[in-house]
Amino acid sequence: MKISDLGEFGLIRKIKQQSKGRSPSTLIGIGDDAAALSLSPSKKLLTTTDMLLEGVHFDLSYTDLYSLGWKSAAVNLSDIAAMGGVPRFCLTALGIPSSISVEQIKEFYKGFNALCRKYSVDLVGGDTCRSEKGLVVSVTALGEVEKKKMLTRAGAQPGDLIFVTGTLGDSAAGLEMLRAGYRGEGTGARGKGHNSELRIPNSPLILKHLQPMPRIEWGRKIALSGCATAMIDISDGLSSDLGHLCEESRVGAEIYADQIPFSKDISKAANHLNAAPLHYALSGGEDYELLFTVAPSKLKKFLSLEIVSTQIGTIISGNKMFLYDNDKRAILKPRGFNHFTC
Ligand code: ADP
Ligand code: MG
Repeated sequence: MKISDLGEFGLIRKIKQQSKGRSPSTLIGIGDDAAALSLSPSKKLLTTTDMLLEGVHFDLSYTDLYSLGWKSAAVNLSDIAAMGGVPRFCLTALGIPSSISVEQIKEFYKGFNALCRKYSVDLVGGDTCRSEKGLVVSVTALGEVEKKKMLTRAGAQPGDLIFVTGTLGDSAAGLEMLRAGYRGEGTGARGKGHNSELRIPNSPLILKHLQPMPRIEWGRKIALSGCATAMIDISDGLSSDLGHLCEESRVGAEIYADQIPFSKDISKAANHLNAAPLHYALSGGEDYELLFTVAPSKLKKFLSLEIVSTQIGTIISGNKMFLYDNDKRAILKPRGFNHFTC
């Protein structure tokens, strides 16, 4: 069905029906002039917004709307996770071109709500406009964190140990496979092996790119433990995001190429890829893993938390980052995704 047949308000009604809020903290959700939310007075409010633009952040020839909805929620929830917070509410603003159908918007919210529901996050509002060119998605997330437990990019000290959760480079490798024409079943995108019933791509690299998992539980555990001194999520690539953490903390870093965690999948996909896993980890971005620093005196306690993470280096004084690779030391320059230089 065309969106013009339904109209703006008909579409908002459908989105509302599809996104019933559950939290008692949502006093007024979708449907009034503003949402009314009740928040805990003992906590800090966290807010974040991320935009995803067709042609800049995603390509609808290999991104299905379910995955796009999921990812739009994930990138915002990841920012809340990176502060050690609990995500509570979301708002979605859409600019919709005439080429997008009502069914596609429904798929978008299926994906969006699937992730939000997992974390009891309520969709409480947004905006809906026509776009003259390309699909525009802007999501705002609101979260909360205990006043004394919040983690920021500032706070890392020389001697602190640098850790990352999960594995790095998978998302960028998945994107390269998609760009090369590989689809993997269940991405919902046009391509070989497409099965619209399957919503989970069967290639783990493609899945990580299209439907990243924000590390909310790990972010909470890290923050509540009191072991970490600084934290950021890896959205632009390790070199870039470590650069941000160092800049805000006014420190330098050294990291070891042979300690960076890679998945079995990225090694198995080597034939389909043009670059080494290290390249994707350093410069690829969109892994949405957490990068954080641990005070050496808290290492034992931190390790007892059993968070899936790897120590990849150490914070040093100064303002430079170094990469040790095969016993060679090289200056590491931030080379992640940058909208205005790429
Ligand atoms: P107003 O003109 O007062 O801004 P709108 O007609 O734009 O109100 O929106 C009506 C209600 O629907 C509001 O609660 C708004 O937050 C919500 N809303 C509009 N678009 C969306 C959307 N894409 N997703 C979720 N909620 C939406
Ligand atoms: Mg409006």
